[in-house]
Amino acid sequence: MISVEHLAKSFGSVHVLKDVNAEISKGEVISIIGPSGTGKSTFLRCLNLLDQPTGGHIVIDGQDILARGADVPALRRRMGMVFQSFNLFAHLTVMENLTIGPVKLLGRPLPEAKKSAMELLRTVGLTEKAHAFPDELSGGQKQRVAIARCLSMEPEIILFDEPTSALDPTMVSEVLAVIRKLAKQGMTMAIVTHEMDFARDVSSRVFYMDEGIIYEEGPSEVIFGNPVREKTRDFIGKVRSLGFHIGNGNYDLYEIHGKIAGFCEKHIVPSKTTTVAQLLTEELLTVHVAQPGPVDVDLSVHYSEKQAAVELRVVSSGPEGNPLITANVPDTLGLDLIRSFSKDIIYTREGGRNKLSVQLA
Ligand code: ADP
Ligand code: MG
Repeated sequence: MISVEHLAKSFGSVHVLKDVNAEISKGEVISIIGPSGTGKSTFLRCLNLLDQPTGGHIVIDGQDILARGADVPALRRRMGMVFQSFNLFAHLTVMENLTIGPVKLLGRPLPEAKKSAMELLRTVGLTEKAHAFPDELSGGQKQRVAIARCLSMEPEIILFDEPTSALDPTMVSEVLAVIRKLAKQGMTMAIVTHEMDFARDVSSRVFYMDEGIIYEEGPSEVIFGNPVREKTRDFIGKVRSLGFHIGNGNYDLYEIHGKIAGFCEKHIVPSKTTTVAQLLTEELLTVHVAQPGPVDVDLSVHYSEKQAAVELRVVSSGPEGNPLITANVPDTLGLDLIRSFSKDIIYTREGGRNKLSVQLA
């Protein structure tokens, strides 16, 4: 139904979307997740041309909507959009909010538009609010009206941009329930959301956005259960991290220890694990600084809230080779400590640098 090819969007020199490629078929429910600022809203806004893409193609039923001469208003009408902030017309009643589009833009007779509006209000559970004004409604009710208004335009796909993030927590579920119902009815939808449990069970596919691209995509079970790429895993596992850059041999170990202690305290890491993290950081830095050549080491501590696990990652420049094997240290005590206090040590070569991931036991 929609095919996105090499979509790019820059704001001046900021390249928000670099190369987005995606296919959305009729009846699919796609959740779009990812850290904030990674272009999720921009992607939705480019899809329905609220933002003009700077490159690429968006092909809908074989027609490139970015091509010159494309009937943009008609194409846009096929896509409904629901925003975080409802965007209802404040001076119109709920009924008027739901009939103005069909009457003015689709040329429907008013009585017919009113009849459809009542049916839509039934769908979202708000028939008794037909004559209320938006400011007489709760946030959850406003958002349900906004969904009904979107449906009144008979879209073929609905794009939701964080539909529940402006809501009081008690009202989130009433809105999600309406979206679930639409999913059951076979509505094609793309939903940007931070509600992970909801995304997990409502969507057929999930797009994880990062670095200006769809960094990883797959069936919901895979993305939430066993994602392949590290950034996706970190995001899904609610991994928090703390990083240090070491540019020479004269680093302040006590400052680093202090920061690790603070980080671990904040995330309620058991004190024994904190001590191990500090000890292994010290040994890992000793090993890395002892490598020949200039010192260029990035050490980070990662805490996965989901797995309650701590991992140390050390990325360093230098010739290819596991620093724990090539280490040029006077005795092996430090290396033995690292091995005995870790559950798993993975060495990889990434982007021309050596990388060690050390999972603490
Ligand atoms: P997300 O929805 O994933 O949080 P956005 O798509 O809102 O991310 O924004 C991605 C980046 O694009 C941000 O760095 C943001 O500052 C920038 N951006 C978004 N809209 C504009 C704009 N109209 N002008 C300039 N920069 C923008
Ligand atoms: Mg956004």
